[in-house]
Formats: sequence, structure tokens, C-alpha cells
Amino acid sequence: MKHLHIILYADPRTPKLRLDEVASYLESKCLAFTTEVREEFFQYWLGQLDSPYRDHIIDSIAHRLARSKIRNSNGRNPISDPLASEVDFERRKISDHYVTAFGNSYDAPKFLGICGELLGEHERSGAFAHIIFTNQILSYWHAPEREYRACTIISGGLSIISTTGIVERPTLASNAKPVLDQNENWLTYNDLRLTEIIKGYALQAAVAHLTGKPFCDDPGCRLFNSKTQNEILFSQMKSPYDLCPRHASFLHAFQRGGAEA
Ligand SMILES: [Zn+2]
Repeated sequence: MKHLHIILYADPRTPKLRLDEVASYLESKCLAFTTEVREEFFQYWLGQLDSPYRDHIIDSIAHRLARSKIRNSNGRNPISDPLASEVDFERRKISDHYVTAFGNSYDAPKFLGICGELLGEHERSGAFAHIIFTNQILSYWHAPEREYRACTIISGGLSIISTTGIVERPTLASNAKPVLDQNENWLTYNDLRLTEIIKGYALQAAVAHLTGKPFCDDPGCRLFNSKTQNEILFSQMKSPYDLCPRHASFLHAFQRGGAEA
């Protein structure tokens, strides 16, 4: 039997997200999955380092995070040389989870690169899938429209799922902002349905790690690439089935040791 160890990193700034339930869901979908819930990603990996080297790395990460922050969704005025106060904010945010930080937007590839360098060598093999949860917004530069667009998931050996990105979907510049109270058709910040929805995104990250293809064309499959809130709610909660036949059989074959992407 093949095996994949999936590590979920908590986000203290998304208190409604119950990662133990997400972990149980992943294990229920494939007998070859084992899971582990860890503390917040920076906290965990920086905790492996000795001081004063750790302080040096925190300084370096704070500078790079400040530089990767998106000042305007149209890409103008990028931060090449951040203010000392901006770097200090990032430093405090890394070290203290009580520092309020909601919905800042970062360049997704740069953010992923910063996290990736912290990963320990012994957990970089294909046998490990690391999934970071964050309430920050991660955005890609969309050249045709000349604007940054928020994404919900970046997937690979190291994946990042933006809990705010799921609520803010589809674009950072969208006028369709979520409402404050829970609504049948809209997700809200710290929505009680977030854990159920995140289960599907975590499964996308795991499947992407195995196949390089995170998304499915079936709107009723948990792996569907939803572009609107209605699509998210249907694929993750209202669909009469959990996985399409193709992905159900893929996971079944993986646990028997014979899955092909
Ligand atoms: Zn599918």
C-alpha cells in the first residue's frame, strides 16, 4: 500500500476552523492517508531553530513578508523597500498570534517561497504533504486583466489554503463583498460552515500533491475548481455526492498501491 502523511498547520487567527475534523475527513477518504495537526507553521518550524539563529531568520522573514505585501490590486507602487514599521509589524505577527492581522494581501509565489525555505529537509519528500492555513489573502498577478487576483489554494508538496480567500472569492477587487451574518448563499468571515468547506480544499491539496492536478471538472465533486460562492457551497456542501466516480476510484486505487494520475 502506498502512503501519504498529511500535516495540517493551524491558523490561530481562524478560530472557527476545527482541524481535527478536517484530519479525520482526510483519513476517511483514503486508508493510505495518515494525518497530523500541528501548531501554526512559522511557530512550529522556527521553534526547531536555536537562538540567536532563530532571531536572524525571523528578521529575514519579516523583511521578505513586508516586501511581498500587495499595496494595490493593480500592481502599482510595489513595496521594494518597506518601512521599518511594516517590517516590525510582520515580526510581531510571526511571534505573537494575538497581534491582529486580518486579510492582508501577499504575492502568492513569494509567500510560498518564504514558507518553503523553512521546511525541514527530512520532511521534503513526496511522502509528506504540508498544508498551511492562513487568514491572509494570497494573490496571483493576472496579466490579461493587469490586476492581482485572490486565490483560495496554492497546491503542491507545500500547500497553502487561505480561509479569507475562500470568503473573498473571486477577486481582491470584487465589489461582491461577504455579509456579516451567516447567509444561505454567501460565506462569511468565521462562518460555521468553514470547517466543512475546508475539508474539500484540504483534499484538493492532498490529491494535487499526488497527481499535480488539484481540480476536477465535475461541479458536484469536492475537488471542483469553484469560482463563485454558490459553486463553493454546492461542491462542498449541497452536492448529493462527495467525490465524482473518477476521484473516488483514484483514491481507492492509491490505497491499493496502483493509482495513476
Ligand atoms: Zn472529481
